[in-house]
Amino acid sequence: MMATKMQNTVTIKLNLGHLQHNYALLKQRAPASQVFAVVKSDAYGHGLLNIAKALPAADGFALIQLEDAIALRNAGIAQPILLMAGINDAQEVAAARARQLTVVVHHRDHLALIRASGAQPPLRVWIKVNSRMNRFGFDATDVLQVLRTLQAMPDIRVAGLMMHFPSADQLDQELDAQWKSFRELVAITHLPFSAANSAALLRDARTHGALVRSGAALYGINPLPGEDRFGLRPVMRFEARLIAVTNLAAGESVGYEGRFVAERAMRIGVVGCGYGNGYPATAATGTPLSIAGVRTRIVGKVAMNVIFIDLDAVPHAQVGDWVSLWGDGVVRIEEVARNAGLSAAAIDCGMSRKQAVPS
Ligand SMILES: *Cc1c(COP(=O)(O)O)cnc(C)c1O
Repeated sequence: MMATKMQNTVTIKLNLGHLQHNYALLKQRAPASQVFAVVKSDAYGHGLLNIAKALPAADGFALIQLEDAIALRNAGIAQPILLMAGINDAQEVAAARARQLTVVVHHRDHLALIRASGAQPPLRVWIKVNSRMNRFGFDATDVLQVLRTLQAMPDIRVAGLMMHFPSADQLDQELDAQWKSFRELVAITHLPFSAANSAALLRDARTHGALVRSGAALYGINPLPGEDRFGLRPVMRFEARLIAVTNLAAGESVGYEGRFVAERAMRIGVVGCGYGNGYPATAATGTPLSIAGVRTRIVGKVAMNVIFIDLDAVPHAQVGDWVSLWGDGVVRIEEVARNAGLSAAAIDCGMSRKQAVPS
């Protein structure tokens, strides 16, 4: 009984006007740079094609999986596409050439793969310089040699040098150390550079370079701590329905493990969404949400398809009403993320393929 009903209890709406607003705003802040929309992980859970098709003005798209890049090309997306995580075999490089994808070279083995992929059509590459994240990239001492090798290949166009900041919160420190050695390489090679993600774009114009790669901010997630929202607007709105209303007496508990105990008599709403619908399982009692524009909070443990909420502030709420989990202008996903011990991007990615519909 619950199962069929549950499927009608959740909606995810995408505000593509907000997406375009955010993109324009990021462009304004980095007017001399190309701003690529990062659409990895199904566009942070918003749906790859939903997002890409709504950004005809974007300078390009950046992502991880080759199959996603191919999906964009098959959908008629003609803008530049950057494969940020590199290439795994010669067939992939050949596929990238055929579709005019730009690839990131971050490992010595890539040089052999590129050679083995044939010579046509030409391939654009960025050289990734290792950051202290130590995920991938060449050490500064190897970059010049790799550059010379690539430049000696007739079919290769080196677009520039790329790096990635390990931590937005520590941007200032990062800008001092790691940034300095990267900038030295840029100065020596006279190549364009790409370093900024959303946080760096908003924080420090020195990081902008030729190409900015922005994900979080594009979707309206503030990548920096603090109250300045930079005018970013939420793209995803997540709503669910009130499927039951109950009364608790003082001392009664609600939900699995009876984790929330009412201190006084209170009205409790049962909302038809849970971690099975993408709501974060770790959201704690007190995590905000809203009904009809009024803020209230969840209580107790998040279940697979159910959360419990405090209805004291909304006495008129009744079964069938829509509850807003985030993205409505009242509750921000960053607040939910903080209460769940997660990043907002991690929550958004969990919404992937759950039927987000543009509105
Ligand atoms: C994900 C990613 C970005 C975008 O980061 P945001 O903080 O979401 O803007 C930029 N560059 C690389 C290499 C990435 O993997």
